[in-house]
Amino acid sequence: MQFRRAQTLDEALDVLGELGKDARILAGGTDVVIQYLHGEIAPETLVHIEGIGDLATVSLNHRTTLGPLVTHRALATDEALGTAHPALAASARTVGGWQTQAVGTIGGNICNASPAADTAPPLLVADAHVTLASRRGKRRLALTDFFIDRRQTVMDPDEMLTAIDLDPLPAGAGEAYLKLGRRGAMEVALVGMAVRIGFAADGTVDSARIALCSVAPTPRRVPEAEEALIGSRLNASVLDAAGEALRAAACPIDDARASASYRMRTLRGLLERAAIQCREAVTL
Ligand SMILES: Cc1cc2nc3c(=O)[nH]c(=O)nc-3n(C[C@H](O)[C@H](O)[C@H](O)COP(=O)(O)OP(=O)(O)OC[C@H]3O[C@@H](n4cnc5c(N)ncnc54)[C@H](O)[C@@H]3O)c2cc1C
Repeated sequence: MQFRRAQTLDEALDVLGELGKDARILAGGTDVVIQYLHGEIAPETLVHIEGIGDLATVSLNHRTTLGPLVTHRALATDEALGTAHPALAASARTVGGWQTQAVGTIGGNICNASPAADTAPPLLVADAHVTLASRRGKRRLALTDFFIDRRQTVMDPDEMLTAIDLDPLPAGAGEAYLKLGRRGAMEVALVGMAVRIGFAADGTVDSARIALCSVAPTPRRVPEAEEALIGSRLNASVLDAAGEALRAAACPIDDARASASYRMRTLRGLLERAAIQCREAVTL
């Protein structure tokens, strides 16, 4: 196996253009190195992109733009980013321990396309779009269209993720990310749920976005559950209906950590807790 260190985006794209599926990007390495050591992947070349400073920037504007090399530690600790994206910051705080957060990147989390990727639900409720670049050009697409299946994305072998853009939390809206695990730390999500709810002046819900991870092959938004909340005051029957819609959209698996039926049973309760957090975050 060869190791190539790219100092610029052009250098990285040249290597990917030349080697295609024989090359694999290495950002923080917290997924890719483990997969390599376990024999799950065997790239001929690893392209280390950590030194490309342009890919580690954060820009807060009417849309936030994050470089793929922004680390979980930066997401968790940057005050301005935490105000604009509280659920994303909360999700980053739950990724592994501080060592993993210090080197693990948002781009790696998304491109690895694990069903349990913690940053995916908060990005989905912020209407995140990704920019993919190759020597052939650039394309921008919604994160909802990026994931195909477990560990599969629409990215071609010569492409890499160069930016993620997303909606900051608007006035009158609250946001939460809740992660259910067997322990409080160093735990992959049994279920992860991000919720963003906007409230009208009279306290009724005027917008709602809900996204899940660890309950299907890919992280996903659940529009049917979102619609159930609109126009309501989040009373029990509305949360029951939205919870039912979440269960209809979920297809979790049984694994060593939890049964599918347990995961299903948690959805209504997680939604209620997240909705309460959203309401408490807003002053009307
Ligand atoms: C101890 C431990 C605990 C963990 N806990 C969690 C957890 O709680 N929650 C969670 O979600 N994850 C967890 N992870 C997984 C991992 O830390 C995260 O997914 C992390 O964000 C990956 O980022 P990275 O920079 O290390 O990616 P890398 O390992 O460098 O790359 C991951 C994948 O993405 C590709 N890639 C990376 N950047 C790009 C790019 N810009 N363009 C195209 N492809 C790219 C790589 O080729 C590779 O396929 C854990 C890992 C460890 C080792």
